Amino acid sequence: MRPILTDPFNRTIDYVRLSVTDRCDLRCFYCLPEGTHDFIEPEEWLTFDEIERVIAAFSSLGVRRVRVTGGEPLVRKNLADLTARLSQLPGIDDLSLSTNAVGLARHAQALKVSGIERLNVSLDTLRADRFKEITKGRLDKVLAGLIAAKAAGFAPIKINMVVMKGINDDEVEDMVEFCMEHDFTLRFIETMPMGETGRHATDHFVDLQEVKQRLGQRYELIPGIMPGGGPARYVQVAGTDLRIGFITPISQHFCETCNRVRLSVDGTLYLCLGQENSYPLRELLRSGVDDEGLKSAIMEALTLKPERHEFREKPSQVVRFMSFTGG
Ligand code: SAM
Repeated sequence: MRPILTDPFNRTIDYVRLSVTDRCDLRCFYCLPEGTHDFIEPEEWLTFDEIERVIAAFSSLGVRRVRVTGGEPLVRKNLADLTARLSQLPGIDDLSLSTNAVGLARHAQALKVSGIERLNVSLDTLRADRFKEITKGRLDKVLAGLIAAKAAGFAPIKINMVVMKGINDDEVEDMVEFCMEHDFTLRFIETMPMGETGRHATDHFVDLQEVKQRLGQRYELIPGIMPGGGPARYVQVAGTDLRIGFITPISQHFCETCNRVRLSVDGTLYLCLGQENSYPLRELLRSGVDDEGLKSAIMEALTLKPERHEFREKPSQVVRFMSFTGG
């Protein structure tokens, strides 16, 4: 029988979001502000050995899913070496990656071979000029990354689009057609007030219930399901394979089914995306803690997991940017 890790609210925690860097090769205006320089120094990054140890400890406590994220995970050198190690860990049976896909054309094949099956790609617009405005980067690189990911055999590939009023909300239907054509799954995400940038983004907040209604006028949407353990609520477009997920942390929060914790690159365990509760693991790892001590620390950290975020009630509470915590 596998052990089960639970939190004070009796939720099973079986999922770790692992941030391998706080750096990113894009500067999305709602995430990482331009001109940010105070990144975590390399000596504070967990090494691959340290990451493997922490994930092994989580796995022996009952975690079976790991999503590698960042910042932009592909900017961490030799990422496929790490994911190969993680995919070999007993008990980890779902290893996935969130990426902006800028560097994916180069790394897709190696990442697939390393044991990553599922891929989430952030893409807020299909227009090159808009992409540049939102991210300061180049859309053609992302599209090349997506083609490479398909060729490498990733399935499913999920496109994550943060829908923002006056920024890209007129592209919702285009994105549906794009995902239909390429056999991607599509997920819409509401803006969250994370850090100064995220709060700025909430000026463009769109309630995804409205987007769903809008799409319902054009397509027949039937309730759908999608494996993956995440918070998205899915519909399927009738007569097609397209599934559309709605991630609604603001309009309809899903904290009661939260199954995850987040490990940042400096070894801090964050217990909730929308609260500051955290537990430092790096010093412990570097002080020579044994495996039992590490597992005890993780269980102690879990007692700090709050019941829910308070993005609505206290929107200025979270000072970390999304790219720091690991989205
Ligand atoms: N670089 C990777 C990527 O692009 O997917 C992983 C990290 S990125 C921070 C993860 C996701 O968080 C992206 O889909 C991004 O659009 C989203 N994100 C960042 N800030 C956000 C905010 N304030 N509200 C909602 N989503 C946000």
